[in-house]
Amino acid sequence: TRVLLTGGSGFIAAHTLDILLDRGHSVVTTVRTQEKADKIKESYKSHVEKGQLGFAIVPDIAQPDAFEKAVISDPPFEAVLHTASPFHFNVTDVQKDLIDPAVIGTTGILKSIKKSAPSVKHVIITSSFAAIVDGSKGFWPGHTYSEEDWNPITQDEATENPMMGYRASKTFAEKAAWDLIKNEKPKFTVSTINPPMVFGPIVHALDSLESMNTSNQRILAAAQGKFKDEIPASGVHLWVDVRDVAEAHVAAFEKPEAANKRFFVTAGYFSNKELCQIIKKNFPEFKDLPSDSTPGGDYPEGTPDQGLYGYSNKRSIDVLGLKYKTLEQCIVDTVKSFQKKGL
Ligand code: NDP
Repeated sequence: TRVLLTGGSGFIAAHTLDILLDRGHSVVTTVRTQEKADKIKESYKSHVEKGQLGFAIVPDIAQPDAFEKAVISDPPFEAVLHTASPFHFNVTDVQKDLIDPAVIGTTGILKSIKKSAPSVKHVIITSSFAAIVDGSKGFWPGHTYSEEDWNPITQDEATENPMMGYRASKTFAEKAAWDLIKNEKPKFTVSTINPPMVFGPIVHALDSLESMNTSNQRILAAAQGKFKDEIPASGVHLWVDVRDVAEAHVAAFEKPEAANKRFFVTAGYFSNKELCQIIKKNFPEFKDLPSDSTPGGDYPEGTPDQGLYGYSNKRSIDVLGLKYKTLEQCIVDTVKSFQKKGL
């Protein structure tokens, strides 16, 4: 299949690109600069040479016509995987830095496909558990999160702080996508992939450990001994391995029954305390890790089956065929990838 993948320089997109090329798909990926394209090229020289991988420069997805040219290709695209969206909390203006690129990026690419890429059959959008979770309910014991749930966050709440802003950006972008499908009835189908905290090995170009992607930062901090005296609260207690998220994106266009569905892709519960314990067990060379008596980082009542929401990942297993990796395997592979980058 001929595929357009947006945001190819990102943490999740890099794994998605790996799987796409492995399965023989032909890919064009968008990046913001030629320099970022050149870095990806270094890792995939043979694919570039045989024409299986190409690049399009899209500097800013917040421009409504950002994808006008990128959606056109010869041979034409049959699937589009839209992963690009800002995921960091280092923002001054929530609307401009988070919400606009998320929402305009999503509606912009859908409109450009409708207008200029009639061969596209499937569009897969990277949404998030952020578009599912209701933060006001806290740990919400007795509730089971699934694809039925929508974050009820409002525009006013969105501008309270960058965390709320990010959650709102993902919620508003996904809603805008489904609204557009309903109102404009394009010829393509849409599926969304909604992961919670994504952990996993780094395969994208990383200038230094300081520029670690947002969701892996806590694993890096733990390994660096920053939680020695107190483990921070875990926040969201659900996680998934990046390789399973990447597989979900590819399976979602390969399997016709995935069309027009959301997929809540989660492997299950984690706590920051468990992350520390796994690192300690597998990397005895790290000295500044918390002990069993270090405070913080635990589940609300000490175990996940007490006082914490449930989750249903059934659809992702039944329809996408996901087989989730374990937390221990994920964390071990993640820390090993940090060591290759100089940890
Ligand atoms: P990364 O920060 O590694 O990737 C984000 C990508 O989006 C980068 O390629 C980035 O380009 C690109 N991007 C951001 N803003 C713009 C913009 N204005 N114009 C063009 N490109 C832009 O994070 P992830 O890989 O984790 O995130 C990928 C997707 O997954 C996002 O949609 C995110 O919301 C979603 N997600 C991530 C989760 C996680 O825990 N990691 C959980 C749930 C969802 P550049 O690097 O050049 O700025």
